[in-house]
Amino acid sequence: MRIQFLGGVDTVTGTKYLIEANGSKVLRDFGLFQGRRKESRELNEAMPVDVQAVDAVVLSHAHIDHCGTIPMLAKHGYDNPIYATRVTRDLCDIMLKDAAKIQEQDAAYLNQKTNRKGVEPVSPLFTMEDAEAALKLFKGTGYETITVAPGIRASYIEAGHILGSAMNVFTLREEGREVRVGVAVDLGRRNLPIVREPELMTDIDLLIMESTYGDRVHDDAKEADDQLCEVVQRTIDRGGKVLIPSFALERAQEVIFHLASLYSEGRLPEIPVYVDSPMADKITQVFHESMQYMNEEFHELQAKIGDVMRPDWVTFTSSVEASKKVTSSKDPCIVIAASGMCEYGRILHHLKHGIENERNTVVMVGFQAAHTLGRRLVEGQEEVRIFGDTFKREAEVRSLNAFSAHADRNDLLDYVRKVRPKRVCLTHGESSQRKALAEAIQAEKLAEEVIQPGRGDSVDL
Ligand SMILES: [Zn+2]
Repeated sequence: MRIQFLGGVDTVTGTKYLIEANGSKVLRDFGLFQGRRKESRELNEAMPVDVQAVDAVVLSHAHIDHCGTIPMLAKHGYDNPIYATRVTRDLCDIMLKDAAKIQEQDAAYLNQKTNRKGVEPVSPLFTMEDAEAALKLFKGTGYETITVAPGIRASYIEAGHILGSAMNVFTLREEGREVRVGVAVDLGRRNLPIVREPELMTDIDLLIMESTYGDRVHDDAKEADDQLCEVVQRTIDRGGKVLIPSFALERAQEVIFHLASLYSEGRLPEIPVYVDSPMADKITQVFHESMQYMNEEFHELQAKIGDVMRPDWVTFTSSVEASKKVTSSKDPCIVIAASGMCEYGRILHHLKHGIENERNTVVMVGFQAAHTLGRRLVEGQEEVRIFGDTFKREAEVRSLNAFSAHADRNDLLDYVRKVRPKRVCLTHGESSQRKALAEAIQAEKLAEEVIQPGRGDSVDL
């Protein structure tokens, strides 16, 4: 029995593990590598496993770095089940089709650009057809325990990360031996809006855990309300617009939740909110249909105001015309638009029209990777380039650090203290973060061994 780490170990993207027991092979996640273009393309293109030999896929959640290359399994002939919670399945239907569309558009754009130079055309990593074939293999589960292959059972437990997210406990049986492997990747945090708290695991031999923030402590998630309230109030007081670059999945809905909470308490006047993202609109619909998986706080607010996800003051602007109207309007309002790091999408139009107005505020509610426009704004650059033109940054830029869906260093250490596994294996983190967390676990003697695998490494069970 063993587990092999095919990706997402000393980086936060491309998570995919192969679990082997009793002659069965099961993949846990099959995520997209993201980062430098050429390097990620090569990593994503190389199939690290013989898909014909895989009996099942167990998927944790609908973030692209965990599910984004699942269509490639279908492309290579995989036709066994892909198990995911029913919410994750529904979200993947949106996320994977969108990923396929981006793949096809990117390839077409590159080919159009390089055609004249006589360069060999590139093909998309996968197509819409591949995504649709993969989606047909999805089997929706509850938070329950199921046999996924002979000798391998998988429990789905609440990860408290995004809606529908699950951690897994794999119970492996071979020749009379039983081993329990817990996978806390991704692990959420306490006090997040909408989602429930992460659940604990018991009797774990090997705990595989993320280390994204192995050396960082976030502001308490409970402070998100106050942080958002303060910056929105200041902006509307001076007659400006609040522009919020946001991921379409979860973060956009979290911002709506916080605003609903602030409006219901009378802490902010009910100024209009535009969610300018067709994808966020579709995803919010899935949230709307999945309320049984939401936390108590959500249900209390729902009982108080009626419809938290689609209140009267929120307009989802799906059409381009409606979007343009919001962009050109000068009235105070809040705009939530993708992409979260200002790399593409409608947020760019809002920034183009709003960045030079000192009354406006750009509010960052997510991680901003190096070399993105979002990062440049956070770093306080005075001039930024949008659609090839240079703009003077006059708007205020504010980062709200209470927003994060990942456990921080304290949450991670606390999880190990409570689960008390025999061994810990750290993945899903840049090496400095991972090393810092490993040292802390060792210093407290929380496990007999702390493993930090490299890509391709295996751990025997
Ligand atoms: Zn995630």
